Amino acid sequence: MSKIAMKTPLVEIDGDEMTRILWDLVKEKLLLPFVDLKTEYYDLGLLNRDATDDKVSAESADAILRLGVGVKCATITSNAARKEEYNLKQLHPSPNATIRAILDGTVFRKPISVPCITPSVSTWKTSIVIGRHAYGDVYKAVEMEVDAPGKVELVYTGVNGTERRVTVADFKDAGIVQGMHNYDNSIKSFARACFLYALEEKIPVWFAAKDTISKKYDGRFKAIFEEVYETEFKAKCAAAGISYFYTLIDDAVARVVKGEGGFLWACKNYDGDVMSDMIASASGSLAMMTSVLVSPSGVFEYEAAHGTVQQHYYRWKKGEKTSTNPVALIFAWTGALAKRAELDGTPALADFAKKLETAALRTIEDGEMTSDLAKLANPAPAKTLNSWDFIDAVARSMA
Ligand code: NAP
Ligand code: MG
Repeated sequence: MSKIAMKTPLVEIDGDEMTRILWDLVKEKLLLPFVDLKTEYYDLGLLNRDATDDKVSAESADAILRLGVGVKCATITSNAARKEEYNLKQLHPSPNATIRAILDGTVFRKPISVPCITPSVSTWKTSIVIGRHAYGDVYKAVEMEVDAPGKVELVYTGVNGTERRVTVADFKDAGIVQGMHNYDNSIKSFARACFLYALEEKIPVWFAAKDTISKKYDGRFKAIFEEVYETEFKAKCAAAGISYFYTLIDDAVARVVKGEGGFLWACKNYDGDVMSDMIASASGSLAMMTSVLVSPSGVFEYEAAHGTVQQHYYRWKKGEKTSTNPVALIFAWTGALAKRAELDGTPALADFAKKLETAALRTIEDGEMTSDLAKLANPAPAKTLNSWDFIDAVARSMA
């Protein structure tokens, strides 16, 4: 059988722990037998990030800007415990934060539905898609520990020398302080990306923030969303029968768990981080959620929404064949291959991506699945598969 050709390489970004193990397995069993895979490879495994003083993270983002489409494995965000575990030279920023800061844009996260898994929120009829602003706020914040009395101020120095200051706090004793920012242009492209996505998917848009408390910061988000909607999208949305709805974030959360779903929930960066795990988990499993970063420069990065599944990795190191669900990793690859096919005009590659997604879902529907899904499936499967057997079952279903 001849393999499907690719025109332009994908940027392949390898990662850590259990997802790194599954990454190789998915390539070996589900991609390489069918596709003449062309990739430009970047190893963002923690040890290589440390060895390159994290230069490799920025290089991988630059490669996505150059080639247009990337696919990324989950990566460890280093902290004190990881520094010791991996004997690191230093702590590095989250690779996702580094990549998103370079690409800017919005991360869209959509649950992967299978009929045998019903969401734990019984009123949901269709999926909720999260549109997470990928730039700024706490992910680009600067922080300081204060250990003695003193005043902390925010100071703006204009290029013409003008100065504005506000007092953050008068510390009588020790404490902590944080300064964060965002740019109007980034918020505008976030709003645009959300409305464009909603128009393509024909679903309403919700946006929520906390402008009652954060009158300037969240107030600006609210105002920019409103302005982009009013000036660029109102007529298009009306023609497509799509509504735009703004509410406070706590009200949105209350409505989400009582509602029917079926909308795009535009979230600020941190809200999107938290809410996407809630939506994924309530829809079935963290491992059943796709994630794509859509950059205003017209490039795309696909990944799984979950992390490196650390605890499974430690069990794998002890010799266990864990039942880690590879579906979101498979969909990261299929999403990237389908986008590559669209940009390159290679329909055979697009057909392959669709076929692989169908095979993965059919395998689950036929009762062969990993334990995270087996616990929830109705009817319950006769047996639970480990990752290796599940991937083999998907490969058989491709034949
Ligand atoms: P995690 O890897 O998402 O896993 C949390 C738990 O969710 C797992 O223990 C497991 O539950 C379940 N789970 C997640 N993915 C699963 C899968 N594919 N199959 C089955 N179960 C799955 O989060 P974490 O353990 O908190 O974080 C581990 C590392 O990932 C951290 O170093 C963090 O920095 C990193 N991280 C990376 C990204 C990214 O690169 N995009 C995102 C988040 C976190 P059970 O144990 O109950 O089976
Ligand atoms: Mg997260």
